[in-house]
Amino acid sequence: MIAILLGPPGAGKGTYSGKLIDIFKVPQISTGDILRANVKQGTELGKKAKDFMDKGALVPDSLIVEIVEDRIKAADCKNGFLLDGFPRTVEQADSLEAIFKKNGLKLDRVINIIVDRDVLFKRLTGRRMCKACGANFNVYTLPPKAEGVCDKCGGELYQRNDDKPDTIANRLDVYEKQTSPLIDYYRKKQALSDINASTGSIDDIVKAITGILGKK
Ligand code: AMP
Repeated sequence: MIAILLGPPGAGKGTYSGKLIDIFKVPQISTGDILRANVKQGTELGKKAKDFMDKGALVPDSLIVEIVEDRIKAADCKNGFLLDGFPRTVEQADSLEAIFKKNGLKLDRVINIIVDRDVLFKRLTGRRMCKACGANFNVYTLPPKAEGVCDKCGGELYQRNDDKPDTIANRLDVYEKQTSPLIDYYRKKQALSDINASTGSIDDIVKAITGILGKK
């Protein structure tokens, strides 16, 4: 199963992916997580990406495409994978298509997660992430059992730099301008399914996505 989760920042792509990978037994490939890990480790990639990320801008396509290509060739991707946060521009989508062609892979489905902008704002300002394992929580919608502490590993929770209000507005604008053209791009290829996720529980939305991707 090869699928893409498409949707604005705060749509819940990371949260749904976390559940879908258990159901489909394929890895999640989150370019945001890969970049954050590189920033944390202070790699060359991390140093180049950090300023873009802090401003809520996209990092240049040239930094990201090769990483994704390497990642999907790894052994754990042999039964498929779930892309979260990639592609984010038409250029990246074209590159992905070329990578799939070169490696004999076929995209099954793109899930377009639709969420109202005011709901996104609330989700993003409430979001907290674990410093140790990267798990996501939300002070409004998915609070941890103990404030500031990760339920999964006991790590410390923090608010991402790019989840501050000014940066959030920029990220949502960047999504509209640079990423939302992918909705038409994949709809024209008849590869897109819409999911409205402004309301409904996480489990309901995961169930709807699972139905589209072919497991009951
Ligand atoms: P995310 O965790 O998906 O919200 O990504 C966090 C940040 O990482 C984004 O705001 C971008 O700066 C950067 N980023 C993640 N994925 C991509 C991508 N596919 N292309 C360009 N920049 C990306």
